[in-house]
Amino acid sequence: MHYESTRGGLKSIESAEAIKKGLASDGGLFVPKERVEMTLDDINKMVDMTYQDRAIYILKKYLTDYTDEEIADCVYSAYTAQKFESESIAPVHRLNENVHILELWHGPTCAFKDMALQILPHFLVKAVRKTGETSEIVILVATSGDTGKAALEGFKDVEGTKIIVFFPNEGVSEVQKYQMITQEGKNVYSIAVEGNFDDAQNGVKAIFTDSDLAQKLESSNYKFSSANSINWGRLVPQIIYYFSAYADMVKNEEIKSGEKINFVVPTGNFGNILAAYYAKEMGLPINKLICASNDNNVLTDFIETGVYDRNRDFKKTISPSMDILISSNLERLLYEVCDHDSSTINKWMEELKVDGKYSIDATSRKKIASVFWAGYSNENETMKTIEAIFKEYNYVIDTHTAVAVDVYDKYVISTGDITKTVIVSTASPFKFNESVAKSIFGSDCIKGKSEFMLLDVLADKCGINIPEGLKNLDKKPIKHNTLCDKADMINIVKDVLKL
Ligand SMILES: *Cc1c(COP(=O)(O)O)cnc(C)c1O
Repeated sequence: MHYESTRGGLKSIESAEAIKKGLASDGGLFVPKERVEMTLDDINKMVDMTYQDRAIYILKKYLTDYTDEEIADCVYSAYTAQKFESESIAPVHRLNENVHILELWHGPTCAFKDMALQILPHFLVKAVRKTGETSEIVILVATSGDTGKAALEGFKDVEGTKIIVFFPNEGVSEVQKYQMITQEGKNVYSIAVEGNFDDAQNGVKAIFTDSDLAQKLESSNYKFSSANSINWGRLVPQIIYYFSAYADMVKNEEIKSGEKINFVVPTGNFGNILAAYYAKEMGLPINKLICASNDNNVLTDFIETGVYDRNRDFKKTISPSMDILISSNLERLLYEVCDHDSSTINKWMEELKVDGKYSIDATSRKKIASVFWAGYSNENETMKTIEAIFKEYNYVIDTHTAVAVDVYDKYVISTGDITKTVIVSTASPFKFNESVAKSIFGSDCIKGKSEFMLLDVLADKCGINIPEGLKNLDKKPIKHNTLCDKADMINIVKDVLKL
């Protein structure tokens, strides 16, 4: 299997190189050059496999330059019962005859980013060795919350790596901050930055491009890398759980093998739903992919009209991981639907950069509409959905999942489609406990209570267990207490690496 850049400016490369590079040097994203095919026979074989064996089965088709042993090693290091509080890793919960929920939040940080960030470090370390590098990898991350913690957990104690995460001191929730400052591990550094997320991100960018530092790094045998969501190594593990959910549904006789189902995906950067698209292209029987957005509904408009227009107000919502106006991974979908025509991609991406908008041709638009349906849920609808699902099913969903459930209801009303549907659930309700408790029990319930107190409230009132990763978080020892000025970020990196 070879990988090429969506912008067409590079020779094709193998997966280890693509994972090591992350972003292509022509500014594009790496995509598989050939189509991977999974027959119904292949899918039937997966029915009786464990999640780990299903993962190996799929990864072998994409990471053809890794040995079987290397792939197995990555999978068994990442998806362990100890790290994921569920033997099945990504269990499917039956809501009713027609609707199932794919729970992707049983990993150590309680959000779906773990599905990819637990395995990426292992891909990366092997990629570096396979391509003949001997340097130690230093991962730099600027985070607005979820990604930083998931990356810290993923790289924790991974041989040959160090990870430094910068988060805005005032820009993350209490739970998120405690998750990061109590992080354990020999090779992890989490640093609060005096400023907002943009300050942290600009600081990291400046460190990446500092030429004096680059020289020092090289002579000390270090190499910077990133754990960004556009890395192919983060996308490919996300394909696995779509097959796994399907195999589970066949196993539990909810569907017959070969029967088509829908997936509804709460979407931000378009990574998760793009993995579902690849699964469909590979041969997974999928009817529709339903793209669910919050009030930042740029994707809803795009899928409905073919015009992508980021010129609009950014809205802060109760589903913050979907507060995004530029969905980077959409570029990969566009590349697929315009038959790998990189000159067209270059044109649209240039228009996006200059005017903040572009408009796709009718053929591409038709192709997208044949697979995708899109909708959005406003704040009030999202909260009402959390309440309704709890009252009807005694099942607690987080704000991001609620966006998906509400958009699914709109889809059914609009189309009348009764195809069995899987809703992708991306975070534990405990992670966004304030909005969840308020939705179900009203504002009085949360008044005067910290996020830590609300963990217990939610557990008691709903009869569910607090996940290990969030339990007693405020009582864990604080391991990181550096607060730095944004101008000092580079010195922190030099200190950590003793340069
Ligand atoms: C990152 C994230 C999303 C959005 O996923 P994309 O792959 O960026 O579309 C949705 N929900 C949660 C909880 C997330 O952390």
